[in-house]
Amino acid sequence: MGHVIVIGGGASGMMAAISASYHGAEVTIVEHMERIGKKLLSTGNGKCNFTNARQSPEFYLSENGHFAWKIVSRFGQKETCALFQELGVYPKERNGYYYPYSGQASSVLDALRMELARLGVGIRTGQECVGVIPKKSGFCVKLADGELVGDKVVLAAGSKAAAKTGSDGSGYRLAKALGHHVITPLPALVQLKCAEDFYKGIAGVRIQGTVSIYAGSRNETKKGLCQNVLDKGGREKRFLASDQGEIQLTTYGISGIPVFQVSRYAAKALHEGENVMARMDFMPELSQEGLLDALARRALARPQKKAEDFLTGMFPGKLNALWLRLSGIERMTAAGALSSTALRALVRAIKQFETRVVATNSYGQAQVCRGGVDTREVDAGTLESQKVPGLYFAGEVLDVDGPCGGYNLQWAWSSGYVAGKEAANHASCESVKHGTGMR
Ligand SMILES: Cc1cc2nc3c(=O)[nH]c(=O)nc-3n(C[C@H](O)[C@H](O)[C@H](O)COP(=O)(O)OP(=O)(O)OC[C@H]3O[C@@H](n4cnc5c(N)ncnc54)[C@H](O)[C@@H]3O)c2cc1C
Repeated sequence: MGHVIVIGGGASGMMAAISASYHGAEVTIVEHMERIGKKLLSTGNGKCNFTNARQSPEFYLSENGHFAWKIVSRFGQKETCALFQELGVYPKERNGYYYPYSGQASSVLDALRMELARLGVGIRTGQECVGVIPKKSGFCVKLADGELVGDKVVLAAGSKAAAKTGSDGSGYRLAKALGHHVITPLPALVQLKCAEDFYKGIAGVRIQGTVSIYAGSRNETKKGLCQNVLDKGGREKRFLASDQGEIQLTTYGISGIPVFQVSRYAAKALHEGENVMARMDFMPELSQEGLLDALARRALARPQKKAEDFLTGMFPGKLNALWLRLSGIERMTAAGALSSTALRALVRAIKQFETRVVATNSYGQAQVCRGGVDTREVDAGTLESQKVPGLYFAGEVLDVDGPCGGYNLQWAWSSGYVAGKEAANHASCESVKHGTGMR
């Protein structure tokens, strides 16, 4: 029986340990927090959206094309649901999003912990892994106070997102020390900070809409690409990404699921020194002309209404006031006196609301990171390092991230399962040859 050491007791590490054990290995998890699976408890607002019925390559993003999809195709949503059901996690599906029926992320963690205990997986909590030394045969895993020896190592130490749950970026340092290139990790699934001073006045508003991210350098000239736009200063901005849903306006900028979904694109453009703009459409169901027509009829129906009351019933009051200000409309103007130029300005403010994105929120507030260990140095069939034979990777430490909706956990389960299986299969062959143990 070979010995597999899993560094990191998060979602991917626990799955790797279970899988390695199913495939005949003796397994030890090394976790530097006082308990395993801390991040899992905060997933899905404490409800754990653990996978999604909608699956395709576009949900798994990296600098390396379809790398992740090859792994997800080996152990995907169906296999994940079947395994969790076997572990006792009865699923509840809402619009394709899977949660435990209990509605509690803690029950997913409990099910994993019970399985680890049943399989006899060794769990060394409160143990920081500070180095991985490849030996002639197997590895020496250096801990803050001691060491472990094993045949294979699965590095599942996560990213830099939400470091208080344990993922402090040390996985990247361990990978670098082993010769791997790490693509700069950047916060993703995160809020965006914006430059304008009006946010304090509209903070707390939640509104349905579309948010689109554009980027460009200051001097970029118009190239005429159809989705690109000119910003207020007449500079061209490249379209990067767009999403629709409930946008939350905060004291510092914008948040909410659609903002999270596009944040990875803003993060990269900002990192590369580009100017980033978010353009929001707060009435996506109407075209510009449609909204103009609706506003004109509204003005005609109650011409005596003051401009400050004109939009009441359509949008939240705080936004109405801001839109009037941005459109240069005086609050006391009668609706019937609004010129078509004024109405067009209002339509622009509602449907082409532009804001300058200056930063993402910190890693601490991000749900995941884009970037990580470059997957071009990792075997897409087995997740084994192409630089250090016997070293495997799982989870977010790799350059793979997905949108909200259960895709990041699906990546953790898929990569954990495959890495654990491959490590165990190869460990058992080699331990017969060499004989290994723990000290
Ligand atoms: C608030 C929040 C909500 C989320 N909600 C969802 C959701 O609903 N659905 C979804 O799909 N995804 C969600 N995610 C993302 C998802 O949780 C992560 O993508 C996933 O947990 C990553 O798993 P991982 O095993 O790669 O890393 P982690 O879960 O971060 O685990 C890494 C582990 O390694 C340990 N470790 C790190 N370095 C060392 C070291 N040197 N020595 C020993 N141990 C070490 C850490 O303590 C940690 O336990 C959410 C994330 C957050 C922060």
